Amino acid sequence: MTDGGPLVPPKLLAIMQCPACTGALSERPDPPALVCSDCGRAYPVRDGIPVMLIEEADVPADGHTA
Ligand SMILES: [Zn+2]
Repeated sequence: MTDGGPLVPPKLLAIMQCPACTGALSERPDPPALVCSDCGRAYPVRDGIPVMLIEEADVPADGHTA
C-alpha cells in the first residue's frame, strides 16, 4: 500500500531505535523494512506498521546469529 513515500514519518524514524542494540534505523523500500545501521537487522514494515520485534527481524547472514 505504499506509493513511493516514506515508510514511516521521518520524525518518528528519527526517534526509533533498534530494539536489539539501540542503533539508528534507516528505511529500505523493497521489501519494506527498517534496517539497523549498527547490527544490520531488518525489521519488516507491514501495512505501514514497523514490526520492531527482535524475533521478527531479518538477521544479516555475515555471522550475526542470535
Ligand atoms: Zn541493531
